[in-house]
Amino acid sequence: MRKISMDSLSALFEAISGTMPLFLPVDGKEGASYKKWEPGTEYSKALNTNKSAKDFFFPQVENMMAFKTEGKNIEVLDLKEDVGPFAIFGVRACDLASFSILDRVFLSDPVDSFYKARRDNAVIISVACSRPQETCFCSAFSIDAAAPGGDVECVMADGMVYLEAKTEKGEAFLKNLEAVTEASDERAAEAEQAKIRERIEKLPLANLSTDAFGGGKTMEYFNNPLWDELSANCLGCGTCTFVCPTCQCYDIKDYNTGKGVQRFRCWDSCMYSDFTKMAHGNIRNSQKERFRQRFMHKLVYFPENNEGIFGCVGCGRCLAKCPISMNIVKVMKTLGGADNA
Ligand code: SF4
Ligand code: SF4
Repeated sequence: MRKISMDSLSALFEAISGTMPLFLPVDGKEGASYKKWEPGTEYSKALNTNKSAKDFFFPQVENMMAFKTEGKNIEVLDLKEDVGPFAIFGVRACDLASFSILDRVFLSDPVDSFYKARRDNAVIISVACSRPQETCFCSAFSIDAAAPGGDVECVMADGMVYLEAKTEKGEAFLKNLEAVTEASDERAAEAEQAKIRERIEKLPLANLSTDAFGGGKTMEYFNNPLWDELSANCLGCGTCTFVCPTCQCYDIKDYNTGKGVQRFRCWDSCMYSDFTKMAHGNIRNSQKERFRQRFMHKLVYFPENNEGIFGCVGCGRCLAKCPISMNIVKVMKTLGGADNA
């Protein structure tokens, strides 16, 4: 384990930036977001960025290919950007857990080469959540916010940052930082981790249970009349899907640039009325059906197809951002019965 004082964080960031681009949460007018570090950039103490760290691997918009036509000939141009090594500092346990959910989607056959190139090149430096928020419930999904993992795991305590390599990539990364860090034992970091776990046990959603959900529950919940009440005020704005680290739906479109056609993909949302619209029409015609799809996917369909793993990591972003204060916790409590009362 290595350590560095919080006051010297800029020296750590400078040393990392000397070898690869470094991205980290930075405060802005409307909350924290990931930015590229440059001298003078301050690391945000905010628990969560507005948008999650999934954007590094699955950006909101990206060009895929272009088509150039000349008479009857079509030339296909590969627009995939070259991706080199880059580091992300400050990833929280929930966002880190979301990567393994996204991996199941994008790294399964057929592998998404755009996503894979970024995953392969990233060094992920996580930070334990010393101050978890009232909207956090990652523990419901067996995520340990005190030990988030990644390539390097950081615990901040008493003005120090403790860094521990968790992968071979992380070991090589930390070795390169020995000039700005010093060796440490684990005691201070472990003491802080124990305190974090105590704080998590006292959070309002600490006892939220997933027991009522999982694979094989489609018939139990699909026609439940409570969906009417739960979805009644949903605006279909898609905010919950855009801030969610595990939502991974996208659309692919062609755009005439005037000099040819460019194909790009962009995030889509199952909450939108034209989502899944096909030649014969739309299979989900009401907001209730769209709303039900989002939560059934996370709580029933995804675990059914992924060895029981839920499609939510309890980051709490949808609790904080939904304009009508509807969210997955309310759905779990309403449908889940006594376990979640
Ligand atoms: S559903 Fe809500 S709490 Fe769960 S991962 Fe998505 S944004 Fe976070
Ligand atoms: S649940 Fe909330 S955030 Fe999601 S689409 Fe409906 S109104 Fe928007």
